[in-house]
Amino acid sequence: MAILEVKDLQAYYITHKYGRSTSVKAVDGVSFQVEKDEIYGIAGESGCGKSTLLKAISGLAKPPLEILAGEVTYNFDGERLDILALNDEKQRRKLRGARISLIPQGSMSVLNPVRRIRKSFEDIIRAHLDVSAEEFEEMVRKHLDALGLDWTVMHTYPHQLSGGMRQRITIALSTILKPDIVFADEPTTALDVVVQRGVVQLIRKIKEEQRSTLVLVTHDLSIHAKLCDRLAVMYAGKIVEEGEVESIFSTPRHPYTRMLLNSLPKLGDSSARSSAPGAPPSLVNPPSGCRFHPRCPHSMELCRLEVPELLEVGSGHRVACFLERRGADAQRQAVGS
Ligand code: SF4
Repeated sequence: MAILEVKDLQAYYITHKYGRSTSVKAVDGVSFQVEKDEIYGIAGESGCGKSTLLKAISGLAKPPLEILAGEVTYNFDGERLDILALNDEKQRRKLRGARISLIPQGSMSVLNPVRRIRKSFEDIIRAHLDVSAEEFEEMVRKHLDALGLDWTVMHTYPHQLSGGMRQRITIALSTILKPDIVFADEPTTALDVVVQRGVVQLIRKIKEEQRSTLVLVTHDLSIHAKLCDRLAVMYAGKIVEEGEVESIFSTPRHPYTRMLLNSLPKLGDSSARSSAPGAPPSLVNPPSGCRFHPRCPHSMELCRLEVPELLEVGSGHRVACFLERRGADAQRQAVGS
């Protein structure tokens, strides 16, 4: 059962300067579903719209980010809720933290540098629950214990903790109210590999203990391989490939996904890795047709003229590329002849 359904979402950064409007088309016609209890990954290069997509679907879009079209529907135990239709910020805030939670990029943007960690827990819990001091302590102790964190961190200030510990505290804070769905935005960025491993284990633990659904955004494909059940690959504001992680890693179908995977280091292979030529396009004036066509080695005339749709190419595996359509047409012709 889908806990989250996103349909044709369009979210642009719109700025007005000297009488001219500029639109950065960060999320442009994105549709996907997240099933209950799964870890759904969103991958792609920096600037492809991953973080904007998270903001838009978690109800955190603020000017200059504007939602121009689409639907974002949550299904909480049979109760359907369109977050974009909630006009009241109070209602949205109530939803966030309790049912939806975001682990943002960079722990210092969440933790107040002049307040002890305990105060941050108090702010979040008391905004949603009316608990006594004893109930508060019991709740936090239980949560920290389950995540393998020590109670003594409650008395510290953020600057007294290492980057890795701050990130763990941020994750503990975002999940203290046992939300139904957790969004994590680059939770391992800027951490060394040893600390990264600890954070990956912590995310797994939360998934097992709380039976939460997780949407994980990171450019790091190795983190997706370790944690996710399904993966969506984004390029220039659109999903270009989606499927089960094993399927995408073993048989990537989109040329961009293949390039991303070819650039990864392989154990025992010391040859130079190839990388995608060129750079991601400007989202103010993205390329016509398939947005990947200026970098694609298989680009055809059609790719410059039409936008490829996401087509099912296997069980739950969808790809937006005209090569797939050509393959399907050739197959149909072979069957007909
Ligand atoms: Fe390349 Fe064309 Fe496929 Fe886009 S649609 S990825 S340009 S072959």
